[in-house]
Amino acid sequence: MNFSKIPGKIFFNGKFIKSDTAKIHVLNHSLHFSTSVFEGIAVYNFKPLFLTEHFKRLVRSSELMKLKLSLNKEKFEKICNNLIKINNIDFGYIRPIIFRSSHSMSPDTKLCKSLIAIATWKWGKLFKKNGISLTISKYPKLNKAIFPIEAKSSGSYQSSVISKIDANEKGFDDCLMLDTKKFVAETSACNIFWIKKNTIYTPKENSILSGITRRCILEICKKNKIKTQIGDFNLNHILSANNVFATGTAAEIQLVSKLNHKKYSLKSEIIDMLIKNYEKIKAECPSTVSDLKKII
Ligand code: PMP
Repeated sequence: MNFSKIPGKIFFNGKFIKSDTAKIHVLNHSLHFSTSVFEGIAVYNFKPLFLTEHFKRLVRSSELMKLKLSLNKEKFEKICNNLIKINNIDFGYIRPIIFRSSHSMSPDTKLCKSLIAIATWKWGKLFKKNGISLTISKYPKLNKAIFPIEAKSSGSYQSSVISKIDANEKGFDDCLMLDTKKFVAETSACNIFWIKKNTIYTPKENSILSGITRRCILEICKKNKIKTQIGDFNLNHILSANNVFATGTAAEIQLVSKLNHKKYSLKSEIIDMLIKNYEKIKAECPSTVSDLKKII
């Protein structure tokens, strides 16, 4: 898919314009210095999932990367819903991005303006297979003390993108990244969970993106009295798990079949229950994770 050729309209510079005219110059600050922040929002049956939750993360990411977000929640949500209508997005994805203009070619951003674009396209699930294979990445995931990891920023994806390429070159679907202390962190674009003796484990929010799907999984577990443990876990912990799954807006709940040579079972009543509940959530498309109480 060539994303520069998506049909329909994109919101850019305060207007809904034809997708093929939504362009930036090659001397753009964010292209050279990785200074953008963005979101990925799923659309199910013409409705965006967790729209307000994504807006809140976009606000936080912008603050951390010192970008100005010129839209308030109401305007942002109205534009996203308009784009779904205009572009007839039944099942797809919304990509808002805030980035710097071309008024500097150095780290000095005083003259740069913050720009916002919101695009949308028809899309399916990220992985098209039942179980994906992972290998450990060469590069660690950074932590809050050395990088604003809470921000969904383009800069935080540099090591993920290289690690994903390395994993693909070795014949794996994706990478599992460890943090600087060698505790399990996340994959290139998903949070990670594993199950051992009916308890679900997931890394704490030190070196990971605070995933909205992750929060949703933890809520479903709470409601269904499934034991969860959030913390620092070493590689041996996940290697001795029965089941492993990854979560994300585009990946949803994705089973993992292999981590290096270790194979995992793809059968789990707990994961079946999580998927069943996630399907209910997709059917309702609440705006926030706190709205989940009425659905699950
Ligand atoms: N970690 C990373 C690095 C990601 O790119 C994503 C996808 N946004 C996630 C985790 C999952 O986040 P969410 O569930 O909010 O999509």
